[in-house]
Amino acid sequence: MTETHSTAARGDSGPEAARLVASRVLDVPDFPKPGVLFKDLMPLFADGKAFREVVDGIVAYHGRDGFDVVVGIEARGFVVAAAVAYAAGVGVVPVRKAGKLPRPAHSVSYALEYGEATLEVHEDAFTAGHRVLVVDDVLATGGTAEATLDLVERAGGTVTGFTVLLELGFLGARERLAPRPVHALLTV
Ligand code: AMP
Repeated sequence: MTETHSTAARGDSGPEAARLVASRVLDVPDFPKPGVLFKDLMPLFADGKAFREVVDGIVAYHGRDGFDVVVGIEARGFVVAAAVAYAAGVGVVPVRKAGKLPRPAHSVSYALEYGEATLEVHEDAFTAGHRVLVVDDVLATGGTAEATLDLVERAGGTVTGFTVLLELGFLGARERLAPRPVHALLTV
């Protein structure tokens, strides 16, 4: 495990926020399978001051009144989503893996950077026209994000923003998700 130190960190909230995330991410080679460099953001979650700065930065970027609800993608997205929702005084909706939701749900299957997955959201999760901010920890190929944004819209929400803490820029997810805007605190 090696810590990522970048002197030229870049991100959509400026170099300071990018450096903060870069200083709290651990690169774990060959997890969960050989060839994958896993970006572990647990050190950022565990650092109260850094976590608060990141959460406040996300709310500031979108504007405190810019969204009505926050969606978090299972599971690490829940950590960020709940904090952002609390900070903005709005609610949080979990997008979950298949079979976890107790009531009727919309469902979408898609290919991951490693493997395949199905995501679900309750059919009644959103009021029509609700402005939804979607958050996750890492943006890799963009498959998870694309599926989630489709899911939110199918359930009647209006996606007003999408934020990740860390984007693997070389995988081209930003182009894949266009014209939907991507906000990444750190792009590597
Ligand atoms: P993707 O659909 O390829 O954009 O993958 C995004 C999802 O998989 C996110 O929910 C991430 O938590 C996780 N993920 C994919 N690749 C990585 C990686 N290299 N490091 C950490 N998490 C990853």
